[in-house]
Amino acid sequence: MNEHQPWKFTCEICGDHSLTVTHVWSILAGTDSENWQEWGPLEASHHWHYDFKEKIEKIDDDIQVERGDFGEFAEDDSNSEPEEYEIVKQESDSESDEFYVNCAACDREIEFGWSEIDRGGGIFPVECSDFIPGKYWPEPRYLDSWQKKGWLQQL
Ligand SMILES: [Zn+2]
Repeated sequence: MNEHQPWKFTCEICGDHSLTVTHVWSILAGTDSENWQEWGPLEASHHWHYDFKEKIEKIDDDIQVERGDFGEFAEDDSNSEPEEYEIVKQESDSESDEFYVNCAACDREIEFGWSEIDRGGGIFPVECSDFIPGKYWPEPRYLDSWQKKGWLQQL
């Protein structure tokens, strides 16, 4: 495989260079729902693999990040916002799935986007050296944040 690391991440807090990708999802188990998470390193290719998997009893506040709500957002800026984002959100089979990218050492959350629509392709954290604003699809949780920064794709 290609050993070349085409991008670099240096945590501004702890100086670490590694990123961890975490996937959190819920499954229905009888009358209850179970929450699971799996995580592993983000690789040079902007893909990742999961090294660990565990059931989590409860999603805590740290994980369940709440950002601006989409309804309000749509009212504020319905003119310039590409509708594709809303369509993705509605049609997704796994709306409850959450993805996170964190510094592997200090666990600081790093915003990231996807190289293809609907959470496809690779993961591109904003603090990686090869991140290009306007090129990637934001993880839906960061849509509002990216819009304010002018990082949304110009289609
Ligand atoms: Zn760090």
